[in-house]
Amino acid sequence: MKKIAVIGSGLMGRGIAYAASTNEFQVQLQDISAAALDKAESYIREEMEKAVERGFMTAEVRIESFNRITFTTSLEDAVKEADLVIEAVLEKMELKIEIFKKLDEVCPHHTILATNTSTMSPTEIGAQTSRPDQCIAMHFFNPPHKMKLVEIIRGLNTSDETYEAVRQVAEQMKKETVEVNEFPGFVTSRMNCLIGNEAMNMLMEGVASAADIDKAIKLGLNHPMGPLEMADLVGLDTRLRNMEYLYQTLGEKYRPCPLLTKYVKAGRLGKKSGAGFYNYNLQEGSK
Ligand code: NAD
Repeated sequence: MKKIAVIGSGLMGRGIAYAASTNEFQVQLQDISAAALDKAESYIREEMEKAVERGFMTAEVRIESFNRITFTTSLEDAVKEADLVIEAVLEKMELKIEIFKKLDEVCPHHTILATNTSTMSPTEIGAQTSRPDQCIAMHFFNPPHKMKLVEIIRGLNTSDETYEAVRQVAEQMKKETVEVNEFPGFVTSRMNCLIGNEAMNMLMEGVASAADIDKAIKLGLNHPMGPLEMADLVGLDTRLRNMEYLYQTLGEKYRPCPLLTKYVKAGRLGKKSGAGFYNYNLQEGSK
């Protein structure tokens, strides 16, 4: 495993590219949007510069790592020599299936196809390819170059070889892993979405302000982040898609809070758009 292609250069894709390149992998970062790729390139450059300033990385490693990443809008170029593809596009099943079908056509036979989905079924996605045994979910956390965990989710037909190869890649990226059998939302999203949705319901019901709900959960329950600031970080559009999928697959308990739907309709998508449950300095929020 030397060459990794990351499909989608948004919040997650750019961080996965960072984590891979700083741990010796050659990375092709692909997106259909040239503007998204430019933004990802600046983000990675700035994050690496900050890491040097703070003493986490030498200037030499920064240059080597950055040079290991190629930015491209061509899917074929990105994956033609890949040992592993990590898909990180929007949380939409039909889009993920379309991409996996294409990847199956253009990737070498040995390539493992992983999805960074937060909730969806790697079995269903893998079943659309001729290599379901080489399909798996690798669930990174936001921001992927800082968060320690990768949740690895086996589909029904995922082989032991695929699981082991992906576990070793995560380990080389200095991540801890957990092995999860497929079920909607896995371990982390199933829990986290429920907590976040309950916090949104409380805000809607006027139980407390956003700041006090988050403060109560942080200081009273010892969570490092409040559920509303966490949802803003994830992106409210992404969170709504997660909730809709969990509602569809797991039922009533996961019905998306109407306030979340309203914010997304208004374009309040959280930190990345400048406003969500909190307001952000636009420049900082756009990162
Ligand atoms: P995002 O909206 O920030 O980025 C998605 C990117 O995909 C965009 O840059 C978009 O241009 C690109 N894209 C769309 N269609 C494409 C295509 N056909 N080919 C190539 N690129 C395409 O989304 P995100 O927050 O990075 O989420 C990506 C995935 O990761 C989702 O499945 C999400 O559920 C999952 N995830 C998100 C988080 C989080 O905190 N945001 C955490 C874990 C997992």
